[in-house]
Amino acid sequence: MLKVDMMKAYDSIEWAYIEQILVCLNFPGVFINWIMQCLISVAYSIVINGKPSPLLQAKKGLRQGDPISPYLFVLAMEYLCRLLKQLKHDRDFKFHPRCAKLQVIQLGFADDLLLFSKGDVGSVQKLYGLFHKFSSASGLQANLQKSSIYFGGVREEVQQQILAVLGMTKGSLPSASSRQNVRKSHFLDCKTPLLCRKSAVTDVSTQERWWAESGESSVMEQSSYLQTAVESEQQERQIVGEMGTLILYKRWNYQRSKYHQASWIVKKILKASSYMEAAGLIVEEEIKVQTFSILRMYLKLMGTHPRVGWRNLICSNPCPPKWLFIGYLVANGRVYSKDRLINWGMDVDPLCQLCKGVAETMNHLFFTCPVAAAVWSKLLQWQGITRQCCEWPEECEWMEMHRNSNNSSSVIYRMTLAGGIYHIWKERNQVLFQGKRRSADTIVRVMVQDVFFRASRMVKLAGPIASLNFYPS
Ligand SMILES: [Zn+2]
Repeated sequence: MLKVDMMKAYDSIEWAYIEQILVCLNFPGVFINWIMQCLISVAYSIVINGKPSPLLQAKKGLRQGDPISPYLFVLAMEYLCRLLKQLKHDRDFKFHPRCAKLQVIQLGFADDLLLFSKGDVGSVQKLYGLFHKFSSASGLQANLQKSSIYFGGVREEVQQQILAVLGMTKGSLPSASSRQNVRKSHFLDCKTPLLCRKSAVTDVSTQERWWAESGESSVMEQSSYLQTAVESEQQERQIVGEMGTLILYKRWNYQRSKYHQASWIVKKILKASSYMEAAGLIVEEEIKVQTFSILRMYLKLMGTHPRVGWRNLICSNPCPPKWLFIGYLVANGRVYSKDRLINWGMDVDPLCQLCKGVAETMNHLFFTCPVAAAVWSKLLQWQGITRQCCEWPEECEWMEMHRNSNNSSSVIYRMTLAGGIYHIWKERNQVLFQGKRRSADTIVRVMVQDVFFRASRMVKLAGPIASLNFYPS
């Protein structure tokens, strides 16, 4: 990986190069003239002893802080990008192993540039050759003192060859070593038998012996194990996985308190035993079972509950979440209708906000109120359902009997039901808080549009909803 630092990137870019790029990208001549006038009309004046000096005409470069400069710089870098794309077809160039799949050669942010290739002299030379070509065209030079090369898994003599060819220094990533230190200390802290060699997993006697010793072994012994044991992060995970299940369960039933300093993953494994107890599973018996099922445990933890009639309204309904939310409140009798507020001792006008006829209860507001009933009868008519709207329990019962499957008419019905509830609640609040009132027709039109457009975006419903492309009269 080459980290290329460009010397005074903004100040050293050639105007002729910018013009050439704009021409090549087929910008209109007039536009290019405007841009070039902005660039070449720059003059600087230096304040010397408090007095501005005569104007100095600029010869190249983009002005920092000028809003157009970043765009022009990106266009300038585009040439390098296109040059490097040619490498994809060059048989002598080899991609960096981690970049080959996506064919990534360079990453750039403003004037910071990272170039990737396989660590052989040929590929690096090809890469740097193209950068050199870009440099001589644009005037952007690499600052060799600040540029560096990073190697991974490259032989020492090849590294020296590459460094000699490019004249850059070898860089090192500071984060790599610190990360390793963190990992080591984290393993020392945890003081668990996870430090075993991986081969010990298959060797039961070694495992048992290590198990017996591990409780009292010193940090020094463990750290020497660590040196030989954990060579890579992947191996570390594997050890946690395999040893965790094999060994840690033995400690589940005792010495749990000792693990308050353990790493989070060990704590997680240890904590899992309490979930098993809560689910009524016996740890020793579960260990003997060859295939342990998380699903089975999850279902046991959940327990058994009776099914509610409105479950499909909430669980299998592709309508907007806000409709579902209000639907869920209604299903559980949790909307703040006026009868509930009065029950809590609040002083509010008890009459229904929509019809001002009777007291506002959830059932009245959403289903039996004349305004709501008008909305529902039109919505049912729109779907071709010939019946009047009922109260919530009957509506739920009807849904469970007739619209409980996943066919299109059931899904559209459930969307409409949730949408209707949401829009009636919204209407009630608009009348109450903003004094705005819409007719039942307007509410129905908005509803039909909402359901129609949402359903027509779904592959399964697009066909059936097409036959509902009309407003109910
Ligand atoms: Zn009413």
